Amino acid sequence: MSSAPLPALSTWARNLAPSPTLAVDAKAKALMAAGEDVCSFAAGEPDFDTPQHIKDACASALQAGKTKYVPTPGIEDLRKAIAESYAGTYGLKISPSQVVVSPGGKFSCYLAIMATCSPGDEVVIPAPYWVSYPEMAKLAGAVPKAVLATDKTGFKLKPEQLEAAVNSRTRLLILNSPSNPTGVVYTRLELEAVMDVAVRNNLYVLSDEIYENLVYDGLTSTCLATLNSEAQARTIVASGFSKTYSMTGWRLGTLVAPPQIAKAAAELQSQMSSNATSFAQYGALAALREREKTRASLAKMLAAFDRRRRMLHGALCAIPGVTCVLAQGAFYLFPNISSFGLSSMEFCERLLEKEKVAAVPGSAFGAEGYLRLSYATSDEIITKGAARLAKFCKGLKA
Ligand SMILES: *Cc1c(COP(=O)(O)O)cnc(C)c1O
Repeated sequence: MSSAPLPALSTWARNLAPSPTLAVDAKAKALMAAGEDVCSFAAGEPDFDTPQHIKDACASALQAGKTKYVPTPGIEDLRKAIAESYAGTYGLKISPSQVVVSPGGKFSCYLAIMATCSPGDEVVIPAPYWVSYPEMAKLAGAVPKAVLATDKTGFKLKPEQLEAAVNSRTRLLILNSPSNPTGVVYTRLELEAVMDVAVRNNLYVLSDEIYENLVYDGLTSTCLATLNSEAQARTIVASGFSKTYSMTGWRLGTLVAPPQIAKAAAELQSQMSSNATSFAQYGALAALREREKTRASLAKMLAAFDRRRRMLHGALCAIPGVTCVLAQGAFYLFPNISSFGLSSMEFCERLLEKEKVAAVPGSAFGAEGYLRLSYATSDEIITKGAARLAKFCKGLKA
């Protein structure tokens, strides 16, 4: 046995912040396992099963022996179907060679950052942000620069805020609409104004559109690459199958980018992980090809989410001291709890202890004074959980 302690772990390992959303979820699950009646609003995934026709296509592929390496950026038919889907949905004309199928939307974002950012480059990230963006930027050796957009501006980054954050080292802007954690959806006009600043400062833009199909009130999500030709030339669109088709465990993401960036992303992926799971890709292909069945499943899920969104929003607004933007996308609400005078972390810890309600503190997303509540859960949990939250808040005011 050597007596000297082992060398320290790498700066990458030591500088990484563990995912706070997974931490809350784990604590809630531990309480449940101990027999506690927990209402969890911590989920980051749809509470629906993957549609049957998608599972069937995957099972058939598995049985047919589609179990070997396939081209790194994805099977040809799937890349073609994804390119056709962008053309059909958004009128975006791209070649299948501009599509990379990756092991998850999260990995697509990481590829986009790794393909565009060098050590020392700055990445502008509007807050509240998805927890992984700053950590991924750090893994690339880049410097995340958060810019806070509060509920006063509907959690949307203003062009002048971007302008003020940009300097000669800024390389990338990350946008995420519909947003996790706020659920807000930028309008085309708002995106154009922000893109204008990105073009003038010659930035790359990563547009994380993983929630593109989860929008309500008759809205449609804007694909950032469709704004104009200058936008298309610098935008990397990350998306995937996880949220739209309730396929989080399948690990299938997409990346759509200008040819040279798509090529770089595929080369990075070839060294970092190789192809996304071969037979899973056949399930994804069925999701895009058997469009009527897919549409029907999605419509059912959307109707449930929309009902729960209104339910939870109504319940939150009825609590004295709480205000909440009625977000129009994803499956999250981001209520303001700053009037209670607790940090969001303290608020969440006490809420879980006292009332057995799990929520994620806003501070995890770079925005103090808020909570993230996911309504990807049952009507019963929403009703019961919101009542407990109201009781908790009343106790704080007393
Ligand atoms: C869920 C999510 C993703 C991607 O998830 P995967 O499971 O890796 O496909 C990407 N961005 C945001 C904002 C998400 O919430």
